[in-house]
Amino acid sequence: MNLPKTVKGYCKKCKKHTEQKLKAFKPRKARAMSIGTRKNEAKHKSGYGGKAKLIKPVKKQNKKPVYTAECSVCKAKSYFVIPKRMKKTEIKQE
Ligand SMILES: [Zn+2]
Repeated sequence: MNLPKTVKGYCKKCKKHTEQKLKAFKPRKARAMSIGTRKNEAKHKSGYGGKAKLIKPVKKQNKKPVYTAECSVCKAKSYFVIPKRMKKTEIKQE
């Protein structure tokens, strides 16, 4: 699927629809002291040997594509998620 470079979307900061630039989404590094990281660490350190019990995960074929939308007025960033699973998406190059 080809995506346009800019989309018109709602900006929470401006409180109205503005032109927004699409960029590739890059997840940040997980915080070391967050509750999720601490729980996961505890799971792997508990008991003898400290290995988490393996539960076979159900694997989906594709992911829902996520992009970062940057407001052209106030430069606030927000998620831009396409609510459908698909193999490949690209921002149109012109
Ligand atoms: Zn804005």
